[in-house]
Amino acid sequence: MTHANNKSPCDPYESVLGRLAGSPAPPKKRRGGETVALVIPPSPQLPTPGREFLITGPFEGFTAVATVIKKLGYNLKIVDTRAPGRDKIDAVLEEIAGADIVGIAAYCDSFVFLENATAAIKRAFPGKLIFLGGPLISSLPEIILKNTSADCALLGEAELTLLELLETVFERKQRDLSAIRGLALKTGDAVKITAPRPQIQDLDNLPFPDYTIWPNYESIVKNGQIIISSTRGCPCACTFCFKTIPALRLKSLERFEREVAYLKETTKFDYAWLNDLTFNVKVPRAMKVCDILFKHGVKYHCFARVTNITEAFALKLKATGCRGIWFGIESYDQKVLDLSRKNITIAAINSAIRAAAGAGLESRGLFIVGLPGETGESLKRMFDYIRKGDFIPLVKYLVPFPGTALYADAVNSGKITDTPQFLRALSKRRVGDHDDAITNLTDMDEDLLRDYFHKIWELTREKAEG
Ligand code: SF4
Repeated sequence: MTHANNKSPCDPYESVLGRLAGSPAPPKKRRGGETVALVIPPSPQLPTPGREFLITGPFEGFTAVATVIKKLGYNLKIVDTRAPGRDKIDAVLEEIAGADIVGIAAYCDSFVFLENATAAIKRAFPGKLIFLGGPLISSLPEIILKNTSADCALLGEAELTLLELLETVFERKQRDLSAIRGLALKTGDAVKITAPRPQIQDLDNLPFPDYTIWPNYESIVKNGQIIISSTRGCPCACTFCFKTIPALRLKSLERFEREVAYLKETTKFDYAWLNDLTFNVKVPRAMKVCDILFKHGVKYHCFARVTNITEAFALKLKATGCRGIWFGIESYDQKVLDLSRKNITIAAINSAIRAAAGAGLESRGLFIVGLPGETGESLKRMFDYIRKGDFIPLVKYLVPFPGTALYADAVNSGKITDTPQFLRALSKRRVGDHDDAITNLTDMDEDLLRDYFHKIWELTREKAEG
């Protein structure tokens, strides 16, 4: 398969990435025979019923990074600790023993695992370089590196920095990583953040995701479900949102279709979770994405903002095999939405839900209990809207995730005083657990917040059972 890209990228490693994308598989093994281990931490989260594969299945970003390593010709060892009984540190040590370098994904609930696993790896194998990557480390590089035994971290989008890191360590045989852009680096007791790395300019330079990297590849094929995306990033700035890839970029439709065809061939999937954060930001393009999925016999769910949901778009989704659409509504109070910089209106919420219902689409409305500005009255309005609305709700307590504007507010106002302790609590948090710890950023009594949370969950069960 050839790859053509005429844009000149602003980062030289993007050309390397583009060449990898165009190179035929399987890659030639490197002469050095080096092994890179990638570890995926366990998660305490309770999956949404029917959406278990989003937590237990193959993660898209992790697959993208592992694909790059495999295409470079390194031996790749994937250590997936998410399965019950596989999260023991001794087992991790055994699995990574033969690796020359170890990368560990850092998600919002990974901190305790990162503390324990990196310390154990350094004790057992002091010479092994440990790097981290993912949203948590990208949000809090200094705190995470100072509180774990990892050596460095890839910040933001990992692929380009990873290319340079592996080249530096294995081809140039250098241990001084300070010239690599996009890196956080432990230097004694301090952490150095190197010059920023630009995001990938053209997503068509990404190699197609290789799901054979997963040890349970056969069960992925058997399930026929994967996560797929036609975009990366989101240009919005909602105060609560835990996203670390800001600029929105779109794959070309021609590339997206080739990727779908490739994944059909390699994973036999017939259902996809369309992971675009702002799928409907350009409706005519989104409709073409729907057509591509339909042409290849793929049923799908998608996220969408409530803006731009026209009747024609809802009908297109329905006609092309969309099984449901998840709307980020968050609150049913305009003041709260504005304070959250959500940039949507109550009228847009009503109109989107109406259009989806009119087209016969199953909708889910995602809500947050505990956004700043929420009051007893506004939560009652949320409850009443959910009771009457033509959708199934999914409600969560507000969590001021690291890297968000609300996290900064919580730290500044003294609601979070000990970040490592807060991160340890996040590592134990079970989404949907009614009695979970709350960081209360409203002026409301915590009991009243919990009361509404419980009532909305009861309503969710009733509505889900029909
Ligand atoms: S909540 Fe949605 S729209 Fe807002 S920043 Fe996050 S991904 Fe973007």
